[in-house]
Amino acid sequence: MVTAEVKSFMKTVKIFFGVAVTAVVLFSVAGCTNTADKETTVTAEITTSTSEKAKTTGTTETTQIKTTTGQAVTTASANTSDYEYSYAGFNPKPAVIDEAKWNLLLVNRNYILPEDYSPELAYAVKGDQAKLDVRVAPHYTEMYNAAKAEGLTLFPLSGNRRISTQKTNFDNKIKEYMNQGYNKITATQKAAQIILPPGCSEHNAGLAMDICSLNTSFENTKQFTWLMKNAADYGFILRYPKDKKAITEITYEPWHWRYVGVEAAKAIKASGLCLEEYLKVN
Ligand SMILES: [Zn+2]
Repeated sequence: MVTAEVKSFMKTVKIFFGVAVTAVVLFSVAGCTNTADKETTVTAEITTSTSEKAKTTGTTETTQIKTTTGQAVTTASANTSDYEYSYAGFNPKPAVIDEAKWNLLLVNRNYILPEDYSPELAYAVKGDQAKLDVRVAPHYTEMYNAAKAEGLTLFPLSGNRRISTQKTNFDNKIKEYMNQGYNKITATQKAAQIILPPGCSEHNAGLAMDICSLNTSFENTKQFTWLMKNAADYGFILRYPKDKKAITEITYEPWHWRYVGVEAAKAIKASGLCLEEYLKVN
């Protein structure tokens, strides 16, 4: 009996280890999250610390898990993170909340906001729905008015978004893929190609605004040219530049502008660094 139990236990351990070392998970990452948002995607590699690496897609990973265990083991991974979606390879660290450097708060797929993060908000532009952190909104208003004086409207398309809203959108997207027959891991990874997981979006922090359009053709507009020239004077940066995909893990988004404060914005603009590089964090 004991031997049988030990064998059974060892089998379970093997199963768990097998899942844990399904080492390289390819998936994509997204920027924004409400259904109107299209911000997406660059493929990222997530590796475990194990030396046993198997490069797979989400789909083949699923197959491996099934053949290894013969049963659903989607929560069997030995992830250290207690993040709700860690079963799919998401193991973010807590974002560093430093009130003295609130404008430099780093939020991305690797650094997530606390679940209850809820900044005080204000309308970015009077008469429009989009809101930003109350400390940022006046700067957007000022920038908006300056562009307006030159005949350009920086329409505030999408500002703050609650984490709970992001979670609802993300979970709905997972369900959508599961209804198409994908298992939970694959469905979650595919959802992350469309929507950033909850807490991972700068919109959840109220620090970013999507301006005018969620189409890369926005880069050809006078508004974009104006922003490239002047936004830093109001503390805003182009957060996901074309040539920084490998670092930001977000594809080029000409519409997504992040407030970092005038000093940092000017330094970032002059240096050509992205925020992760400027903060020396990745
Ligand atoms: Zn955005």
